[in-house]
Amino acid sequence: MNQMLLPVTTVTGIGEVKAQALAELGIETVHDLLFYFPSRYEDYSIRELSEVANGERITIRGEVYAEPAVRFFGKRRSRMMVRLVVDRAVVTAIWFNQHYLKNRIKIGQEIQVSGKWEKNRMQVTVSETKTTIPKTTQQQSEEVKIKPIYPASAAVTVKQIQRYLQQALQQYASDIEEILPAEIRERRLFISRREAITAIHFPTSTALGIEARKRLAYEELFFYQLKMQALQLVQKRNNQGLAMPIPLEPVRAFVRALPFRLTNAQKRALKEILDDLQADFGMNRLLQGDVGSGKTIVAAVALYAATQAGCQGALMAPTEILAEQHAATLTKLLAPYGLQVGLLTGGMSAPIRRELLGGLQMGLIDIVVGTHALIQDDVHFSKLGLVITDEQHRFGVEQRRVLREKGLQPNVLCMTATPIPRTLAISVFADMDVSTLDELPAGRKPIETYWVKENMFERVLAFIAKEVNNGRQAYVICPLIEESEKIDVQNALDVHAQLVHYFGEQSQVGLLHGRMTSKEKEQVMREFSANQIQVLVSTTVIEVGVDVPNATVMVVYDAERFGLAQLHQLRGRVGRGSEQSTCILIADPKTEVGRERMRIMKETCDGFEVARRDLALRGPGDFFGTKQSGLPEFRLADLTQDFEQLELARADAAAILRTEDFWTDDNYAFLRAYLEQQGILEQYMLD
Ligand code: ADP
Ligand code: MG
Repeated sequence: MNQMLLPVTTVTGIGEVKAQALAELGIETVHDLLFYFPSRYEDYSIRELSEVANGERITIRGEVYAEPAVRFFGKRRSRMMVRLVVDRAVVTAIWFNQHYLKNRIKIGQEIQVSGKWEKNRMQVTVSETKTTIPKTTQQQSEEVKIKPIYPASAAVTVKQIQRYLQQALQQYASDIEEILPAEIRERRLFISRREAITAIHFPTSTALGIEARKRLAYEELFFYQLKMQALQLVQKRNNQGLAMPIPLEPVRAFVRALPFRLTNAQKRALKEILDDLQADFGMNRLLQGDVGSGKTIVAAVALYAATQAGCQGALMAPTEILAEQHAATLTKLLAPYGLQVGLLTGGMSAPIRRELLGGLQMGLIDIVVGTHALIQDDVHFSKLGLVITDEQHRFGVEQRRVLREKGLQPNVLCMTATPIPRTLAISVFADMDVSTLDELPAGRKPIETYWVKENMFERVLAFIAKEVNNGRQAYVICPLIEESEKIDVQNALDVHAQLVHYFGEQSQVGLLHGRMTSKEKEQVMREFSANQIQVLVSTTVIEVGVDVPNATVMVVYDAERFGLAQLHQLRGRVGRGSEQSTCILIADPKTEVGRERMRIMKETCDGFEVARRDLALRGPGDFFGTKQSGLPEFRLADLTQDFEQLELARADAAAILRTEDFWTDDNYAFLRAYLEQQGILEQYMLD
């Protein structure tokens, strides 16, 4: 029997009642307890006064220099003050409501206190007191100086958890087995698993605590990487036989004929994609790039390449507006080469739809654009080779299943304009290949971003008017009331009316909101694209992907209600041409974090930088939003901190999978079985 799987009641001192309370915290076995990591530590080691910052916790040892002075407030409340000599400095120690200590503190005696340090007044507000100081150095080193603090509950206190862990380690530390390959442990100079578990709870020094954390975070990330990369290999193996014979010369000619030169990042991404298409496995690739980095062209070239190999392609967009826009772009680029681009939307008449579906099934249509319904229902292809999704992180499992049921295993490319810091991307998307467009087309000017209060709206309007007079166009994103589309629409109507009044005959003000039919929306977008509308008032339906290069002003009402990623997306609607563009955020955030987010927007236009700072501000869980699929939850590893371990883990997992031809189904099953037997399958095979 694996000792780790024994119930916590086998730990001396834990009875049935406490076991119940621990179970509430998710602790049922010895293993659960040992892996219940501290959320933080309190450091009781003695440091130089000058090293401790104002407001931090401090521990000092000093000689009592004057009698304790006590003042009472009412019956129970008191304030006691003692002056101590510490390193030739005089420090005032203050106790609240602990006057009973008075008799234990004598002039000339050495005492130790911990508490909050007020540097300017040389004063400590004491929370812990020791009046007997151990004599020998031996005793001193055995004292716990760094105390672990655990998430506790009403039924189990932090102190109890500390005690249980001390006891559990005494009984079971010798049963903690190493699970990292010896070769990796040596190369990375990791301490053993046993040492690490002991030290994460009771570090005898800060340095050792850091070592322990490093090793355990690595372990978690390593097994996650191993699993995800293995999945990717298995996928590639199962998808064999899709190699597309792409004639490269026509593709090169196509690229040469584009109205601009591709950026180096676009070229690199294209090469990665074409290599995947030609290889004998199904592509599963993420193309991430900042807004305006030119993902659509990359998609167009890839689709063109697929048609040259005799395949059909599909491009799926999140909204009908975007689908229409993509269809128009692709038609312009591909029709001159004799290719048929079809658009499939919900609002089509039955006969037109029937004709389109027939054309797809017979192979008369080369490329079809639509929303995500595109691959479902009654849509059949003659030879679908490439599926591209816009503004999506992942291609759903369900969608893949639908394709497989149609006997298709096409290559999949997912494009997203939510830039994710590389470390996070390779972790979350470890089962995909990632191409990154980290370069904007030449000649783009950074968008100037301002943050103003609502009482500036008149001046904002004047600014819009000035730009419009210079031939430019503007977006005004309306106040957002979450959970009520109805009120959002009302807001949009109000703002629209206000702007129509302001601009009068001078300029056309358009309106776009979620309650309009797709026909109506399409019409408005067409007029905005053609500059028949100069100012477009919109709810956030405009958010992703829309491309009108002549628009140079983006005004966002209630900017504090949007996530940073979303604000960056909205801002990305302008700055798409060569003119200087401006983004104006109207916001009155009530919290410091809210104000910091506005400052981030002001300070940088780089989506990766926005994402990095957003991540640091919020942590990865929030970064993706609670419902976001695909983000693994680690017990210890923290993607905002453990970049280095993540990179190492990824490289090490890749090396194992690569060098030893390690990854057979048998080995995968073995790893599963091993982790299961260790009682840590759930922990490491994060599904
Ligand atoms: P996104 O990556 O945000 O989807 P788009 O694909 O919509 O960006 O491209 C943004 C704009 O930049 C489009 O108007 C497109 O034609 C243009 N563009 C794309 N690539 C280049 C390039 N290499 N040089 C100049 N303009 C480009
Ligand atoms: Mg796009």
